[in-house]
Amino acid sequence: MIITAGRADRGLEAPGACSRQENSAATARLGHLSRAAADTQDDGAMAHRIVILGGGTGGTLVANRLSRLLGLDARITVVDRDDRHIYQPGLLFVPFGLAGAEEIVRSRHEQLRDGIDFRLAEVERVEAGENSVYLADGSFIEYDVLVIATGAVLQPEETEGLRWGESVHTFYSLDGARALRGALAAFKGGRLVVNIVDMPIKCPVAPLEFCFLADWQLREHGLREDVELTLVTPLDGAFTKPLASERLGALLAKKQITVQSEFATGLVDADAGRIVSWDEREVPFDLLVAIPVHGGPGYVPRSPGLGDELGFIPTDRRTLQCAVAPNVFSIGDAANVPTSKAGSVTHFEGEAVTENIQRFLEGDELTGEYDGHANCFIETGFHKALLIDFDYDTEPLPGRFPDAHVGLPLMAESRLNHIAKLAFQPLYWHVLLPGRDIPGVGSEFHPAAQRADTNATGGTS
Ligand SMILES: Cc1cc2nc3c(=O)[nH]c(=O)nc-3n(C[C@H](O)[C@H](O)[C@H](O)COP(=O)(O)OP(=O)(O)OC[C@H]3O[C@@H](n4cnc5c(N)ncnc54)[C@H](O)[C@@H]3O)c2cc1C
Repeated sequence: MIITAGRADRGLEAPGACSRQENSAATARLGHLSRAAADTQDDGAMAHRIVILGGGTGGTLVANRLSRLLGLDARITVVDRDDRHIYQPGLLFVPFGLAGAEEIVRSRHEQLRDGIDFRLAEVERVEAGENSVYLADGSFIEYDVLVIATGAVLQPEETEGLRWGESVHTFYSLDGARALRGALAAFKGGRLVVNIVDMPIKCPVAPLEFCFLADWQLREHGLREDVELTLVTPLDGAFTKPLASERLGALLAKKQITVQSEFATGLVDADAGRIVSWDEREVPFDLLVAIPVHGGPGYVPRSPGLGDELGFIPTDRRTLQCAVAPNVFSIGDAANVPTSKAGSVTHFEGEAVTENIQRFLEGDELTGEYDGHANCFIETGFHKALLIDFDYDTEPLPGRFPDAHVGLPLMAESRLNHIAKLAFQPLYWHVLLPGRDIPGVGSEFHPAAQRADTNATGGTS
């Protein structure tokens, strides 16, 4: 099914879409954009065929940015397997009744600018050598530039015994968050365990936020004394960067949340109520909230040369050009760049990837640079939140964001940060997804905004 955004259901064909039978030999060669292969516009000029796989955070914002930048010079097609765009940071609030499941979902194609084609289909595989994407319905699409924005998928099946049920839940999916709401409401005491099975995961601070919100809600309900709350993580502390790990670890301890670190989960035994690590340590639970293994979607291993062993896409960490071919770019959780898998990262990458696609189409050197900028609001309960801001080279430090003098406090709990976290949802739909810049918040990391009271530098997360 193809929908042209703003012109839904008129049956317009996506550029280059054809059946497998019609697939004569693919002509465009790697790295040599063929203007002749591009679509012809009404005025006879050629439009570049840009295909974007995934219409989530990254796919949507890059499609809208490119549409604004290139106008009629590009025919843009976004491919996604469903038409439900979930505001994923909102999943955290659903189990606590602080957001309704339907409040965080909108139509995907309605987030795209007029003239962008939305193709409702599952990607079957990418043949980068043919500049073609094959879809599960048997058709294929040819491209001049491909953007991979298919994110990360949950893979509970990778862990023995990990099946969602009465005592085993997750909040990393909409159905999971909804079911967990019922389980939490029925939970009157015992061992509540939050388990990160393995890294990398989306938003590595979300499990900590879940612990903080659970602590708050249990206290509000007078149940905290009856609950042992434990965070079980494969990391050696609360977070991947030293100073933030220390500060967040202290906050967890203050709230009597135990951290079981360096625990690589090998088995979930729901009947006996325990998780077991590969080195045979055990953590008992009455209610388990698991964040399963993440990996790339199933089409990646079927696509020659596209992904690494986890299904993520080898990508230049600064230009966001993929290793498989010069006309393939990646944005968001799909890319294997060494920073957090987060919406903020995806947003900050948008500017560089859009600039580089334009430069690539014009045959120019790729000068757009993503610096690893990431920031995360961490809900800590009691109407407060903490903010961290970092890049490839600088770990989260205290200070203020976005400006050293005025702005949100970094690495410190505040009501202002909580309000900003809640305000982010309308910004997401109305500024970030449409591909606009947030006033006063640039894509680049500004170390000067942070009071460098430590010389420690961060690694990757
Ligand atoms: C519980 C939770 C809380 C979070 N909180 C925060 C937060 O507070 N701050 C923050 O910055 N980030 C947060 N994140 C992370 C953030 O949501 C993601 O990093 C961001 O959405 C990544 O965008 P993306 O475009 O890479 O992937 P997505 O937005 O996940 O989009 C990927 C798209 O690809 C599509 N797709 C995948 N495979 C196929 C296929 N084979 N065929 C067709 N379509 C396919 C999917 O349907 C999906 O629409 C959170 C995530 C979760 C789960």
